[in-house]
Amino acid sequence: MKLSRIGEFGLIDRLERLVSHPDEQLVVGIGDDAAAVRTTPDRLLLLTADVLVERVHFDRRIHSFQQIGWRAMVANISDIAAMGGMPKHALISICLPGSMRVEEVEEIYGGLNAAAQEYGCAIIGGDTVTSPRDLVVSVALTGEVSEERLVTRGGARVGDLICVTGQLGGAQAGLAMLRLLESTGTSPLPEEQWVQARDRHLWPRPRLREAQEVVRSGRIGAMIDVSDGLAGEVGHIARRSGVGAEIWEEKIPIGPQTLRVAEQLGISVLELALCGGEDFELVFTIPTDGVRDVTEIVFRKTGTKISTVGKILPAGEGLVQVSSKGKKKTLVAEGFRHF
Ligand code: ADP
Ligand code: MG
Repeated sequence: MKLSRIGEFGLIDRLERLVSHPDEQLVVGIGDDAAAVRTTPDRLLLLTADVLVERVHFDRRIHSFQQIGWRAMVANISDIAAMGGMPKHALISICLPGSMRVEEVEEIYGGLNAAAQEYGCAIIGGDTVTSPRDLVVSVALTGEVSEERLVTRGGARVGDLICVTGQLGGAQAGLAMLRLLESTGTSPLPEEQWVQARDRHLWPRPRLREAQEVVRSGRIGAMIDVSDGLAGEVGHIARRSGVGAEIWEEKIPIGPQTLRVAEQLGISVLELALCGGEDFELVFTIPTDGVRDVTEIVFRKTGTKISTVGKILPAGEGLVQVSSKGKKKTLVAEGFRHF
């Protein structure tokens, strides 16, 4: 059977059935942002891995080696944050084409290390091998969370509101601009907006402090980070929680530079926000009466705004996207397709 028949998530489901076996220590297995294992009576060890492949996740004409390292590390930190945890120890595996220079590999490590230091984790090992053609950077990261702060994709309850941190679609808009600049040599944005758009993609910032504040509230249902667009992430929460959901288009937070990019390129800003990857914002669900307190405290402690973008529905109502005029259609996740 071809991979394209079942896609990335269909494949992971099959692999999960192949490897699943009872494990007394396992608290969260395959299917969340990170796995969680009970190591001490009240602490859980979190484990996650993400791999970046040249020409799939980055392009050496667009991304510097430092940026490649930074992005590989923050993708993992974001997954630990989404479980309510703090990142701890990383293993870095690199597959290097023989044509690469030592200094270039050190630059990748400059980026990996900068992110590790910024978010309080340490690189403690890895593996180094040759690659016939493309550069591959793979990070496996552990984290730690106390049992009562653990939050999964599976905790959403009917009636909860769906909230997001920051703004969506920015990373994808930045990438679109970088590609345009690479191919035409010009960027149609004013300088300040250009820098904002570019940096959302090149130097993403995982929402670790925001996640900590959100879980400290003790009210939160489910949480996930945005690696493949809001629609897909809400779909993951719905599936794992056994619920439906609706997203209110007009409430989706979108930055002015993203609006400008969409306008300039003639692409739909909603599509950028719903299906654009690597924003590394957080999506979480919380009962209606908890929203105000969490919004206030996160803003006070971190300066990051929280927007309420939808509501959890009974499973039978499926996934719905509601326009500003109240028109409803099915919310379709069309994030990046690997196969
Ligand atoms: P994220 O976007 O948050 O990084 P993924 O979509 O990559 O999450 O992965 C979803 C889940 O599937 C995670 O629990 C991950 O550990 C698991 N997973 C992904 N690929 C594999 C694999 N090849 N074998 C086993 N588990 C996998
Ligand atoms: Mg994730």
